[in-house]
Amino acid sequence: MSHRDGPRVIEPGATIGVLGSGQLGRMFAIAARRMGYRVHTYSPDDDTPTGQVADREWQASYDDLDNVREFARGVAVVTFEFENIPSATVLAATEFAPVRPSGEVLYVTQHRLREKRFLCKHGFPVVPFEAVRSLEDLSTAIGKIGLPAVLKTAGWGYDGKGQSKLTKADDAAAAWQRLSTNEAVLEAFVDFDCEVSVIAARGLDGKMADFGVIHNAHVNHILDVSVAPADVPPEVEREAVRIAYGVLEALGVVGVLCVEFFVARDGRLMINELAPRPHNSGHLTFDGCVTSQFEQQLRAICGLPLGATSLLRPVAMANLLGDLWQAGIPQWSAACAFPSVKLHLYGKEQSRPGRKMGHLTAMADSPMDARRTVVAARNALRPSGLVEGPPFAGHR
Ligand code: AMP
Repeated sequence: MSHRDGPRVIEPGATIGVLGSGQLGRMFAIAARRMGYRVHTYSPDDDTPTGQVADREWQASYDDLDNVREFARGVAVVTFEFENIPSATVLAATEFAPVRPSGEVLYVTQHRLREKRFLCKHGFPVVPFEAVRSLEDLSTAIGKIGLPAVLKTAGWGYDGKGQSKLTKADDAAAAWQRLSTNEAVLEAFVDFDCEVSVIAARGLDGKMADFGVIHNAHVNHILDVSVAPADVPPEVEREAVRIAYGVLEALGVVGVLCVEFFVARDGRLMINELAPRPHNSGHLTFDGCVTSQFEQQLRAICGLPLGATSLLRPVAMANLLGDLWQAGIPQWSAACAFPSVKLHLYGKEQSRPGRKMGHLTAMADSPMDARRTVVAARNALRPSGLVEGPPFAGHR
């Protein structure tokens, strides 16, 4: 009997396989173990954020397909916690267990051009873009898109890696060389009012649920502070959720999907990018919602009914990047002295500037208060007690 004939509901007690082993897999594993599931994680690394809390950590290359098959044979369902998993890996896993979301979803969303073309084809709003395969293409694209613009690698980019902002035509040659890729996309630079995201889930039965609109502030292209609910007009909220549901259905996602948007100054929404998995902007759901994005992912891929997504209270999340460690070990007790603040650390040994090491969340009576508290708690972590410019300053 193939897994395709198996029972639709994967009951607690079963083992879930996670491709990837970072903090998203860690929080997923914590949610899964709380509900009585076992978790196996697979990645090239060991002593990983996910491995530390999983039942079993497989350390092997994604290209080692025999190992991938062996891994999939031992689990009831496979999911992933980051997009850069090769297609062949997913195909090999699919021989022995359902992969949710599917390999097709991963294939579309792990490549900016494929993703944008998919979104355009289905009538979803995206930032104007052009495909770029050479320096000549880049000059033509600049002619069409105008400047300023942002040049991004088509594959394997995240957190602003593999991106260059172009402000004048003379920047083109250097930017193209710096990217060192043969496939890129040039996007119009959006003078946005703000950035928001919608995290939504679709179950095996096609039912959907969303966590509302979350406001995101980035520093150096990396998410810095998220706040829910976002302070956007109700029509923007409705439209953002409508688009997110449309994308979930068009892609046929079973699992969680994040849609990141730019909100233009006239209120128009443009999709920046998709992530077919729990997302950094949804970390605040762990403490702030009835069901977290991680439990929702678990419920969806196991064929369980989705959980309630209601916010318990306004909530904010501040990322803790490796930069914070540069002046010494952060003063954890100073952040814990804020009684409504929750500390999440990912178990990473090595801190590096820009590396996501953990986050704080705070709940309060208003989104503004939640943001103020979480930023104050993060500032208190600095060993010197000093508050300097970004990324530790307050945000709008
Ligand atoms: P990305 O990795 O594409 O999500 O980009 C990271 C961040 O860079 C975004 O969240 C924005 O803050 C900024 N950014 C990326 N693309 C653009 C754009 N076309 N216009 C303005 N800002 C951008």
